[in-house]
Amino acid sequence: MITTEKKEDITPICPHCKKELNKIFFQELKYDWGKRYLHFCPECRACLGVSHRKGPMFGM
Ligand SMILES: [Zn+2]
Repeated sequence: MITTEKKEDITPICPHCKKELNKIFFQELKYDWGKRYLHFCPECRACLGVSHRKGPMFGM
């Protein structure tokens, strides 16, 4: 079983450019059925994920 643990004292790393993600950029994507938010790295602009809300959601 995998457990989760809240961690706010370390900074996530971009899986593409390996830079620390102190900030994540997002763009709004508009669909006929609603909106999605595309999150991407400010350094290399690699796409980190798409979610239905503004908060980042990796692997979605
Ligand atoms: Zn990056």
